[in-house]
Amino acid sequence: MSQENTAQGLWAATAKGHVNLETFSGSTHTRVAIIGGGYTGLSAALHLAKQGEDVVLLEGSDIGHGGAGRNVGLVNAGLWLMPEDVIRLVGKEHGEDLINVLGASPDLVYELIDRYDIHCEAWRHGTLHCADARSGYKALQERERQWQKRGAPVKLLDKDEAAEKTGSTAFLGALLDERAGTVHPLSYAYGLARAALKEGAALFTHSPVQDLERSNNGWLLKTPGGELTAESVIVAVQGYPEAAFSDQIQGLVPFNYFQFATPPLPKDILATVLPGRQGSWDTNLILSSYRLDAAGRLIVGSVGMVENWAWDLHKAWADRTIKKVFPQVGEVPLEYGWWGRIAMTPDHIPRFHVMDKQMAMVTGYNGRGIGPGTVFGKLLAQYMISGSPQRIPLPVSPIAPVTFRRLRGLFYEAGARMYHLIQRRI
Ligand SMILES: Cc1cc2nc3c(=O)[nH]c(=O)nc-3n(C[C@H](O)[C@H](O)[C@H](O)COP(=O)(O)OP(=O)(O)OC[C@H]3O[C@@H](n4cnc5c(N)ncnc54)[C@H](O)[C@@H]3O)c2cc1C
Repeated sequence: MSQENTAQGLWAATAKGHVNLETFSGSTHTRVAIIGGGYTGLSAALHLAKQGEDVVLLEGSDIGHGGAGRNVGLVNAGLWLMPEDVIRLVGKEHGEDLINVLGASPDLVYELIDRYDIHCEAWRHGTLHCADARSGYKALQERERQWQKRGAPVKLLDKDEAAEKTGSTAFLGALLDERAGTVHPLSYAYGLARAALKEGAALFTHSPVQDLERSNNGWLLKTPGGELTAESVIVAVQGYPEAAFSDQIQGLVPFNYFQFATPPLPKDILATVLPGRQGSWDTNLILSSYRLDAAGRLIVGSVGMVENWAWDLHKAWADRTIKKVFPQVGEVPLEYGWWGRIAMTPDHIPRFHVMDKQMAMVTGYNGRGIGPGTVFGKLLAQYMISGSPQRIPLPVSPIAPVTFRRLRGLFYEAGARMYHLIQRRI
């Protein structure tokens, strides 16, 4: 394995259903333009087209080029934050709605997968949030209390039950969330693109929006090959803002996450590793994630980017982690390594920006974008149809640069490297 394959790694190598799309050219008008071909943009395109709206999506690179093609594939219910923290930060008015909407977001994901027959290794067996320390176990107890109070099907497993579910004795317990599951993230994005096309949306790739300006009754978007006028615009560039939107990176905290994947595990060993196929992650501040793909590869991930010398450091950590957490796997070579940029906000709450009545975006999913991207795409589509932002359960906020942005990024990147240098050595 070399460092060359660090863009979408395993997902690019195994994705199903890639769609060959044309580059945008010429001069056209549409009712709604969407910028970005990840979950948010594709879901918005799909739901707008389904309502009979004329919609054009422009993707700067290829479908799933951003977080959608690089993530862990955990279809989580809700944000990282516990429900009561969400209410404290966004207020009661939006908070309860946000919790309910995102708590139910896996329903929409799996419903679309079923309805459009999306082949994306979709499993809905729940996820496991694993306690790797006493403090983590206490935090999971509190998480269980807050979600159960809201009627969510979450259950805290003790050490033995967690060992049975994970196939590892490394954890003191685990919170099983039955609302959640896993997908092949890039195949899911391709599937959404196919669904949007089927409903009548026009999608273009390798068509970065390089410039945009107000036009008579909407917006004029310029790509290298063409010009598109639109009455309304949905900006769905998230953690990968390019060209006309590159400044928007200033509103996000730099936070990277990498993954390494083994070759498919032998059948007898595979039966002992996450035997229920739940995706999992731990309670550590520099968290680790563990999941399987359909071929039986074990995928481990954590905070940081795998580039240059950090590649060796994080890879050595991944090797040690597999040995310590799943010793039954033994010595295995790692086959793929890749990383991506998470759209993180300082308080871990997503942002709803309305640039003017006809241009809006929701961003900052903080590493939870499969469900939220799919749901917010749908809600943004409804907003563009109704003209009312009321159904979006977030306060409208201005785009503001993050203070001490570089320093915060350095804190996470350097902290993760230092931690991975020493973690699981003994
Ligand atoms: C490593 C990693 C792990 C993650 N793990 C999980 C997980 O397990 N579960 C989960 O739910 N979420 C996870 N996430 C978050 C999730 O991937 C994102 O929240 C999700 O992809 C956001 O979808 P999106 O459509 O809003 O943005 P993206 O998927 O990032 O798509 C944005 C698109 O906009 C395009 N674009 C940018 N600028 C322009 C332009 N000027 N013109 C045209 N197109 C443009 C980009 O090329 C890109 O394709 C993870 C993210 C990363 C990076």
